[in-house]
Amino acid sequence: MVSQRERLKDIMVDMARGRDIGNKLEFDPRDKRVKPVSDRSYSSPYSYPDPDGAMNISKTDADLFGEGARRDGRIVITTAILEDLEKDVAVPVHFSGNASERVFHLLGGGVDGVRFHGSLIAVDDPGHIRVQTIGFETDDVRLILEWSDIEGQKESLKAVAANALGMIRDGGEWVQVAVDLVPVKEELFSRFGGLLETNALADAKVAIFGQGSGGSHIAIELVKSGVGRFHLIDHDRLEVCNVARHQCDLADIGRLKVRAMADAIKRKNPYADVTTWPLKAEWEQFETVLEIVREVDLVFAATDSHASKLLINQACVQEGKTCIFAGAHRRAHGGQVIRVRPGKSICFQCFSMLLPDQVQDQEISSEEHAEGLAYTDRPVAIEPGLSTDIAPIALMATKIGIQELLRDKPTTFRSLDQDLVADWFLWLNRREAGTQFENLKPLAYEVDGMHILRWYGIKIDRHEGCPICGDFEANYSDENLNAVLQSLKATEGVTR
Ligand SMILES: [Zn+2]
Repeated sequence: MVSQRERLKDIMVDMARGRDIGNKLEFDPRDKRVKPVSDRSYSSPYSYPDPDGAMNISKTDADLFGEGARRDGRIVITTAILEDLEKDVAVPVHFSGNASERVFHLLGGGVDGVRFHGSLIAVDDPGHIRVQTIGFETDDVRLILEWSDIEGQKESLKAVAANALGMIRDGGEWVQVAVDLVPVKEELFSRFGGLLETNALADAKVAIFGQGSGGSHIAIELVKSGVGRFHLIDHDRLEVCNVARHQCDLADIGRLKVRAMADAIKRKNPYADVTTWPLKAEWEQFETVLEIVREVDLVFAATDSHASKLLINQACVQEGKTCIFAGAHRRAHGGQVIRVRPGKSICFQCFSMLLPDQVQDQEISSEEHAEGLAYTDRPVAIEPGLSTDIAPIALMATKIGIQELLRDKPTTFRSLDQDLVADWFLWLNRREAGTQFENLKPLAYEVDGMHILRWYGIKIDRHEGCPICGDFEANYSDENLNAVLQSLKATEGVTR
């Protein structure tokens, strides 16, 4: 024998799931009563011609109804959206979401992707709104809020969500789902509490040259750390072979990497400000590069060509901006991070003159780059490298970058200042055959000596004869001239 309450529950759960069970009941939030729907082709969930057929509903029964709805769908919106709402004005919006899971979001940001038409309206009494009178023909999602709740929303977000009427269209039928109201902006970086101020990096401006695997990883780690303003520079488009190591995915194939990454950044933080520059860092663009560098607090160079690194270096030294160079060695057997603090450290030109081999031992990531190295006796196929081998280098570059951005701010990361004093950091992923690292002792349980899978900070002094940050003329020698020419030779063919 099925009790009336169980029957009520079954019917309510079916209703919440949008199943047509023939004998339809309807819950009216105005008086918390369940009523039969006599007009089977009804157009509004709250138009019922026979109020005498209503059943009283207890709080427990109401909770059951709530549970049914809650299990089966959800509309999640950010509180920021409420600020622009006007009473009785239906606003067309695009929800992102997953129709099969019946989860729809309105969380801000200009994120591309799967979208659902919807409308949002605030009225005095949600229960009285006839659904067909608001919203738009094409709507998949409708959200009706109570105006008085919105006005007092600071007191209780839960009240706004509880009284909201979230409706999704499921197979032609409107179904009520639960509504969540989230203060996204406030909660986004709330887990930083105690480590640094949650908005410490919100105004930090960075430029990232190169949005390949390394640059895209740096961008995502920066936005996850709370950095709020980005300039992304890259002329390339995403190809299928990039995806395994890139932060973007197959849905972004064919897009400019900078645009796809702008969306990826906004998926993490819709309040981030991203400026995209679909251009190649080459000498013809030097004025634009200078303009970008001037704009920002910190620069990252994650490009794959030596010529572009020299150019970015020159712009940063000229503008006095710190620049972090990140790069993988060939086949990503290791990598390095070089921090250029103009006037205080080596610059990338110095580095190229002092260590031409290190500079050339970089990953070959494009056909163009492979051709550029054709004068060497190295294999010139586009080199493989795993994401796990590139990630540590991108993470270290980001870590050093954040330390730079927090330089004058109170944070528990201050102790790192004493650790991250080197301007050149080296990392080895493995004991690669054919390199000087081939015969290192295995890591095993070793604590002494040089091993793979750890960072080495290396002290390196500026080159006095550096034409960019030193005094080339005062320190002129044939040796210095050769060093400069040698460093430029590494760029031959790459730029053309
Ligand atoms: Zn220099």
